[in-house]
Amino acid sequence: MNAAVAKPAAEPLDEAREILRRVWGHADFRGLQAQVIAEVLAARSALAVLPTGGGKSVCYQIPALMRPGLGLVVSPLIALMADQVAGLQQAGVAAARLDSNVDPDEKAGTWRRIEAGELDLLYVSPEGLMQPWMLERLSRTPLSLIAIDEAHCVSQWGHDFRPEYRMLGRLAELFPNVPRLAVTATADARTREDIRAELRLEPSAEFVASFARPELVLSAERKRGSAQKRVVELVTARPGRPGVVYAGSRDKTEDIAKALRDAGVPAMAYHAGLEKQVRSDRLEEFLEADEAVMVATIAFGMGVDKPDVRFVIHADAPASIEAYWQEIGRAGRDGETAEGITLYGAADMAWALRRIAEREVDQDVKSVQTGKVRQLYALLDGTGCRAAAVRRYFGEEGVEACGQCDLCTGRIELSDATEAAQKALSAAHRLGGRFGRGRLVDHLLGKTKDVSDFEEGLSTWGIGQELSASAWRDLIEQLLFEGLLREDPNDGRPLVGIGDAAAVKEVFRGERRVQVQHRAEAPARTRKARKPARDGVALSPSDQPLFEALRAWRARAAKAQHVPPYVIFHDRTLAEIAQARPGRRAALAAVGGGGEGKLARYGDAVLEVVASFA
Ligand code: ADP
Ligand code: ZN
Repeated sequence: MNAAVAKPAAEPLDEAREILRRVWGHADFRGLQAQVIAEVLAARSALAVLPTGGGKSVCYQIPALMRPGLGLVVSPLIALMADQVAGLQQAGVAAARLDSNVDPDEKAGTWRRIEAGELDLLYVSPEGLMQPWMLERLSRTPLSLIAIDEAHCVSQWGHDFRPEYRMLGRLAELFPNVPRLAVTATADARTREDIRAELRLEPSAEFVASFARPELVLSAERKRGSAQKRVVELVTARPGRPGVVYAGSRDKTEDIAKALRDAGVPAMAYHAGLEKQVRSDRLEEFLEADEAVMVATIAFGMGVDKPDVRFVIHADAPASIEAYWQEIGRAGRDGETAEGITLYGAADMAWALRRIAEREVDQDVKSVQTGKVRQLYALLDGTGCRAAAVRRYFGEEGVEACGQCDLCTGRIELSDATEAAQKALSAAHRLGGRFGRGRLVDHLLGKTKDVSDFEEGLSTWGIGQELSASAWRDLIEQLLFEGLLREDPNDGRPLVGIGDAAAVKEVFRGERRVQVQHRAEAPARTRKARKPARDGVALSPSDQPLFEALRAWRARAAKAQHVPPYVIFHDRTLAEIAQARPGRRAALAAVGGGGEGKLARYGDAVLEVVASFA
């Protein structure tokens, strides 16, 4: 929110608000929307960082409707474009997309509408837009604005670098008089700087909203035993709710999806190794289903705008705090309470660091990326509020604890384990980094099967009887996080050795203490006392049947048109209708969530469902 933000003239904003009400059915702007829209309406370019679900799209959609000419929207994924265009068409907006999935007849029709000046919004991919013939054809078309969605993709400091985004810098000289709006949900200060430089937005205003997502309840736990088993436990404890499980490899997504199906959960795997058709069928099924669980690699995500995802579980740790926030952020876009649960381990960290070390990039890029991995694990394995840690990471100041994450509601107890740590470190040292964790624990307990004379003769053999095997495993994990031990991934059969030699020496001399965490479960009362979700609608049991009937009607209407249900109405809108029980059009219009286009299209059908419950 720095740079020159001029006070917007009242009138264009009033008109914009009227469009928000009429087309989208929302009463007023929220957050920084009004400021961003005023900037674009004044024909100035800008960068806007608004949280997921914060309503980035109307920031360019409304100015595109108000300004003369065609609004171009650059978007990285076809799924994202398809969803947005379907939603706009439902609302009665003249929108279309041109991408490789659109058939030639439809393309020709779209070009006719563009040239006749009938289209308000056109969605394109970066590589599609930058083709010479496309640019040439567009140069003869008046443009209202160019929006660049997911703008963090332009930055190699970000977490989702897409080289084709780099070409978009040329838009500045190709369309010097067209305002450009770059939007993204996640960009730390350095990434923002990169976006501005690459997209040539240097003198433009920057709008950065709070990264708070009060509807998200965060938790994280160290992996203990089988992560797959834990995921099944977590998912089956949340029955009948749509969710996403992220796993680190294609095989794992298949295995976890199968384990979930065996446990009776409608789960599907999703990864880049599947055929295109299979992927798009599964995506469609997930978007349209009320309770499917998608088990996916990070190939699944950007552009998945399903608003009612109730949980995101990381079966393996994400790659960075940006990725964490983006992936977790896919839950609760409708503003209702949703959960983000992360399983992580020292092995995940070692693997991430190893991958960076092997990458062929400049040393300074490597050290930034290594730093990001360390910050992520400091957050996951830390003891302070998780939501606050994320917000501080993105540069917010004066952040308060969320009061609802596992670290805010649970108790963390620390105890000194320096003496045990000395034993573990010296055992790892004597074993010379040739064995894995299990063998190290067996050694400490003196339980190694078929032990060699050499090993039995070591002074550390069996010196750890005072702790259980699982306590030793926890301590070793702790030492790995602290860098006192180091794990060589060794192609999936990791070996444990001594880490930072100077730090290890300090532990032996007693100058550095090692503390272990014990997480106490939150008392049941605090858990229940969670704040209600933003804008949450609590349905009374007497309204529930009507709500279900409205959802059934919506499912039929969606199926008939091959669109996801939520592009017709969100759950929240249906819940509000079930409560208000409008008898007539005017009363229905007073319920937020659907503009005039939807009212004209669905008003009678909805009123009929309501009347059948009168
Ligand atoms: P994102 O910033 O994640 O791209 P979207 O643009 O998809 O978010 O908007 C998220 C949801 O919030 C959508 O359902 C949208 O209709 C809704 N929304 C946007 N602006 C407002 C507003 N001013 N008031 C209420 N709901 C809004
Ligand atoms: Zn918290």
